[in-house]
Amino acid sequence: MSGPEHIVYLDHNATTAVSLTVFEAMKPFFTDCFENPSSPYPEGERARSSVVAARERVATLLGAKTAEIVFTGGGTESNHAAILSHLREKAPRTGIVASGIEHPSVMKLLKDLSAKGYEVRFVNPGKDGTVPVEGIREALSDQTALVVLMWANNETGVLQPVEAVARLARECGAAFHTDAVAALGKVAIDLSRVMADTLSLSAHKIHGPKGVGALFVRKGLSFSPLLFGSQERGRRGSTENVPGIVGLGQAASDVYEERARSGERMSSLRDRLERGISGLFAPGFVASNGEGTRVPNVTNLRFSGQSGEKLLDRLIKKGIRASIGSACSSGSMEPSHVLLAMGLSKDEALSSLRFSLGSGTTPGDIDRALSAFREIASEEGLPVREDAVVSV
Ligand code: PMP
Repeated sequence: MSGPEHIVYLDHNATTAVSLTVFEAMKPFFTDCFENPSSPYPEGERARSSVVAARERVATLLGAKTAEIVFTGGGTESNHAAILSHLREKAPRTGIVASGIEHPSVMKLLKDLSAKGYEVRFVNPGKDGTVPVEGIREALSDQTALVVLMWANNETGVLQPVEAVARLARECGAAFHTDAVAALGKVAIDLSRVMADTLSLSAHKIHGPKGVGALFVRKGLSFSPLLFGSQERGRRGSTENVPGIVGLGQAASDVYEERARSGERMSSLRDRLERGISGLFAPGFVASNGEGTRVPNVTNLRFSGQSGEKLLDRLIKKGIRASIGSACSSGSMEPSHVLLAMGLSKDEALSSLRFSLGSGTTPGDIDRALSAFREIASEEGLPVREDAVVSV
């Protein structure tokens, strides 16, 4: 199989295509409406009001107020801005409690902070991928400045107990930051219920453009910017990326409308993929990493004794796109820190693959992926069930 028409894209947690509605919404802002939102003439006002409208759409998706949304250059920047601001505001406290399964954009920053003298305590999840609330409680002290726990993990899809942990952080006088990049558009996010101080999101995981995101900053919180300037009410300098912001606003509004319906579709297709793969192979050959409650679009599967890299290579040759661990750490064959934190051995982690579905994934895509698995099983002599059909 070759050619783009044969590609089955099951790597939506790496990134998604810009949707047509988003693309159409963005287009005028590159050419006709290119002006700076800070300019005093009518065209500047047009750009300004488009940013206002996008802010409303993002706020609606989060159950937040418009004044609580700061546009940024993506999820990584939002995470950095939030974490560094909390630490400045909570000084002289220097303790950080974070899960051991955060995205590399958080993990690498925390490692750097640890080298600079912050005391970082990592709390690992159980085998099911859920970080225990009790573990967070035990790690807290009167020196804790900040607690960080992602809303859903990007590699396993497992949802984390953010509501309870936000409450615990508050009780101990610490700030609470959550990275909702992998959860946005997949599950309801209601910040009037979950008392996060800050929350990160990224447009390119919900069919928006790359290089734009937002940071929710709860009303009343003191915030020190990462980038100084007068835009975003002094919370994020740099001329607004108007096309990107408009694209994020459109993507937010599209997922707000569609989330429940597409969530059901994705979870049923995800289950069909899992059942199909498990049903093909001999019992015990395939196991699921992360049995905790998950977002609807992700499955992380372990293939006993196999090299995930080799398996992925075979799948890629058959037109199937998936990933080993998070895209940001692939390229190196280090085992996923998320799977290791869940208690998997290095070999088990290296024998795992992530499949992440999107709102446009079809039953035909899943069938194609299953056919590819049947072919690989037959070609590689993998242990299949007695009654499984191995060739197509
Ligand atoms: N957090 C998570 C959970 C992610 O999956 C990603 C993207 N891989 C990021 C943060 C970073 O977002 P961005 O690519 O917009 O910087």
